[in-house]
Amino acid sequence: MANLTLDAVRPLLAAEGIDCAGLVPLAACRVTRAYLLARAGLPAGAGSVIMLALPYRAAGETDANLSAYAIPPDYHHIAAALFARLIPALEAHFPGAKFAGFADHSPIDERHAAAIAGLGVIGDNGLIITKRYGTYVFLAELITDLPTDASPGEIGTCAHCGACRAACPVGLDWSRCLSALTQKKGELTADEAAALIAHGSVWGCDICQNACPHNRAAVCAPLPAFTADRIPHLTAAIVEAMDDDTFARRAYAWRGRAVILRNLRLMEETSRV
Ligand code: SF4
Ligand code: SF4
Repeated sequence: MANLTLDAVRPLLAAEGIDCAGLVPLAACRVTRAYLLARAGLPAGAGSVIMLALPYRAAGETDANLSAYAIPPDYHHIAAALFARLIPALEAHFPGAKFAGFADHSPIDERHAAAIAGLGVIGDNGLIITKRYGTYVFLAELITDLPTDASPGEIGTCAHCGACRAACPVGLDWSRCLSALTQKKGELTADEAAALIAHGSVWGCDICQNACPHNRAAVCAPLPAFTADRIPHLTAAIVEAMDDDTFARRAYAWRGRAVILRNLRLMEETSRV
């Protein structure tokens, strides 16, 4: 089989608006769920990984009351549709090769793979920081049985300026992360409810990325697939009006309606007082 190069796949990626991609041998990646490779019919030790950074942030959404990643439809659905278009195109371009797409539920450590593929550096806020889009990207990857001569790069780090830690309400203590709190099921304690209200976001938290100086010049240009059906300011009435299929396409759907509605009602009741 011929070796895969990034130049060979760039035109296919560009047709989808993807301009932030890297290529590494699968052997250089940390395989964390080998069964997903086997399920996709891919060999465990050989092949290549095309890492993708998919920008999602749009300009002008100043009244947002939830994390920027949750404003467009759930990226798992967008990535699945992307793969459904890209994989046949890739397999037609490389006859005999097999490709499979993954996003989030992946056989490899995506952040590590993105860093060694040169997509960006790893910030102290735990996120990949890309040069063009900053941290406002989803990671996804296409894994193939085609080999590559591409070499993995060194893992870069951020400027360690401390701004994310200083801005974070819990000092980057992931065990108390407010993003996780917005996604907690069941009743909130009085302290948790107070923390959520003070935080002001009904889903997720962007404070540690918004504070990062690497994001100051980040381009707000979402992938075309993320430009439609955006809901920057969510209300309980909007969620209640969604039918089940519509709701299932939102990023906050995976915890069920009760969790996002609890957060929204808490905020809306508080703002009425
Ligand atoms: S998401 Fe928010 S609460 Fe969580 S670590 Fe970042 S700034 Fe802190
Ligand atoms: S805010 Fe500073 S320390 Fe935090 S990720 Fe950005 S550069 Fe690194």
